[in-house]
This record gives sequence, C-alpha cells and structure tokens, in this order.
Amino acid sequence: MGKLTIQKGMLQVPDVVTVPFITGDGVGGEIMPACQAVVNEAVQKAYQGKRSVDWHEVYAGEKAFNQTGDWLPEETLQAFHEYLVGIKGPLTTPVGGGIRSLNVALRQKLDLYVCLRPVRWFRGVASPLKDPSKVNMTIFRENTEDIYAGIEWKAGTGEAERLLHFLQHEMGVTSIRFPQTSSFGIKPVSMEGSARLVRAAIQYALDTRQPHVTLVHKGNIMKFTEGGFKEWGYQVAEKEFAGRVFTMQSYARIAQEEGKEQAAKALAEAITAGKVIIKDVIADAFLQNTLLRPEDYSVVATLNLNGDYISDQLAAMVGGIGISPGANINYLTGHAIFEATHGTAPDIAGTNQANPSSLLLSAVMMLEYLGWQEAARLITSAMECCFASGRATADLARLMENGQHLSTTAFADELPEIIKTP
Ligand code: ATP
Repeated sequence: MGKLTIQKGMLQVPDVVTVPFITGDGVGGEIMPACQAVVNEAVQKAYQGKRSVDWHEVYAGEKAFNQTGDWLPEETLQAFHEYLVGIKGPLTTPVGGGIRSLNVALRQKLDLYVCLRPVRWFRGVASPLKDPSKVNMTIFRENTEDIYAGIEWKAGTGEAERLLHFLQHEMGVTSIRFPQTSSFGIKPVSMEGSARLVRAAIQYALDTRQPHVTLVHKGNIMKFTEGGFKEWGYQVAEKEFAGRVFTMQSYARIAQEEGKEQAAKALAEAITAGKVIIKDVIADAFLQNTLLRPEDYSVVATLNLNGDYISDQLAAMVGGIGISPGANINYLTGHAIFEATHGTAPDIAGTNQANPSSLLLSAVMMLEYLGWQEAARLITSAMECCFASGRATADLARLMENGQHLSTTAFADELPEIIKTP
C-alpha cells in the first residue's frame, strides 16, 4: 500500500496513497464520510482507477478517549508520522488533563510550522463585500512561535512577582503601569522560525505564479519580534530568491540612492519580467485594505497571532467557517495534516445539516499537495456549479437569494453527480 516519501525535498507519490484520517467529534461523523465519498468519486473519474486513496482510520478526541482513555493515542501520532499526510475532522478540546488543545499538540509533535489557509469566493455564496470575486488569497500563518508558545504568568503569583522583580531591577524596565496586578506573557519570534515560514510562502508564490507576497506585521510597535519577522523575511527573499523576486526594500533603496523615478522603473521592469513582488504592511492597515482593496493581496505571510485574526476575517468575507479549508504543513519533512477549520458544532451535530465544504476543500488542498490536480479541479468545479445554482447546506443557502437547502448527505450525493470526467 502507498506510503508517501520525501526525497531531496520532493514528495514521492504512489498511485495508491494511504491517508490516515480522524473522523472527529460532533459533526465530524457526518462531514467525514461525505467528504471521502466525493474524493473517491473525483479520483476515480480523474484517473479511471489508476490512482486511489486508501483511507486508514485513526483516533483522537472524544472517540479515542472513550475507547482508550487517551485523547491523542500514540498510534495516531505514529500513523501521521509514517504516512506523511493525514486529514482530520473537528476535535473536542479535552477538559482537564495535560493537553490544552489537540490541534496544537498535533502541530507541535510534527513541527507543522505553516498553517495554510486559501481564501476564495464561490459565485452564489453570500458575502458582506460589494465584489467578493476580487478575494483570492493564500495565508501562510506561522504555527510554532509567538504568544502561542504559552509562556505566561498570572498576576499575583510568585512567578509573576519574580519576573517583575527581574524586569524592574535587572532590565531597567519602568513602563509597567500597574506592576502589582499585571500578568505577563512572553512572545518569542526567531530568525529561523520567520525565515522558514516566509521561504515557504515565496516558494508557493513562485510555484503557483502569484504576483506578490505580503509580509503582515506590527513592527511599528513590536520592533524586534514583529519587526524582526519583516526584516528576516526580506533577507530570505533577497538572499535565497535573488533574480526571481523584487522586494519593496530594494525599491526604497533605489528611491533613496537614485530617485523615485528609477525605483518606479525597476518595479515596473520586475513586474513585466514576472518576478514576485515582496512587500509588507502593518497588520491593522492590512485588515482594512483587505475589505477595501482585496485585489492588492495574493500570498500573505504572517506571524501566529496576526494569522489567527486575519484567517477569520478573510473567511467571513467569503462565506464563513463552514466553507474555509486549512492545512498544517512542514515542507521540509513533508508532513501535512489537512483539516476542517471549524469546531465540532455541537448545536447541529447529528441533524444532517452540517456543511462538509470546509473539510472537502481541505481534501482538495490535500489532492493538490499530492500533485493530483485533475481530481482537485473536478471537486472545485462541482462545488462552483452547485453554489452558483443556489444549492447548498442551510448555513449558506439561507443567505443566498433563492437558496435551496440541502442536507449534508444530499449535498454530498449531489456533487458526484455533477463531477464530470475531464
Ligand atoms: P467547539 O467547542 O468545538 O469549538 P463551537 O460551537 O464553539 O464548537 P464551531 O463548531 O466552530 O464552534 O461553531 C460555531 C458556529 O458555526 C455554530 O453555530 C455552528 O453550528 C456553526 N458551524 C460550525 N461548523 C459548521 C459546519 N460545518 N456547517 C454548518 N455550521 C457550522
């Protein structure tokens, strides 16, 4: 059976690929089978039996806890480790115990340093924007650093007091407004962590012929962490992708040394030559601009916390969490877990109403990652067709003009009907 391998940075993909999957809790039991049926049909239609997915169930979350007493059994981690790719439905956050979040635990164990979120609009889906067709972005969110490192101390504890003492008496800090009642958090941002994220974003932009990569940061306030991310990002671009990219830092240098006209000329030449433009923007301005001029952005590289806010805003611009896919990837080892980005939706679990699109579009990302573009395209065009005719699950259909509600199973049954042989 088909195990993916990685050789010299290139994935080696057999014709039958074993994919470990976690069904997930809540609506997971409804959306996972729906998703698998559609993927099987698309792969069959695209390759006429020459290629297929061999689904291999592994357990995590409530289902695993009830069966084994373990929220994240070692065999599950082992399977993801061994087979490189995997897909998962939503998981319940464990109550008590050592694990804060199963999603975070999986990312840390496999060092999945990129959280990848493509954001595009499907014709027919309701959006708060005047022209959502202009939204087509791919977010590369750093997944291992920043305040998500979980290094913080609660106000009033001995640790907080010791840190306060250190800051005031050894580091000369005088700007803590209410020292005795302050909690403290540490925000680690490294050169390596920033560089590998930005490197992946630029490589993706080159591979998929995107016009620009935008580094989104708050370096005007956090000069060494968020500002460091920007500087290290530009360094990677200029050192490792020379000749293939043009950075707005070099634009600024040319403008200073040779004048604005020369800089504008160099930029125009770079665009004509098909180079990827590397630019940066402050996070708050970015959030505003994405609403006003979404066409200015294609690939976005950002830190962990910014990425969290950005992903949700952009998802809302194109139809919300029911339709937003995601993946966590380590491009060096090849490990990648594709996932529904929403939670377990306990309010609708078991009612056959859940939208499987988030998971299904994540499966599309997985097919693209495997290089099975033909099967991926069959699914997206079937979804385009369905949404354009106003047929969707309740979460989307109720906001559509003349929307027609489909249950989870009806939606999943309809897609294979639409999927055409290429
Ligand atoms: P959890 O505790 O697992 O995070 P939650 O209810 O707090 O669950 P979500 O599961 O993300 O958070 O759900 C937020 C809202 O979005 C809920 O009203 C839910 O019904 C809705 N929702 C989430 N996923 C879907 C889906 N796939 N299809 C339709 N509605 C969904």
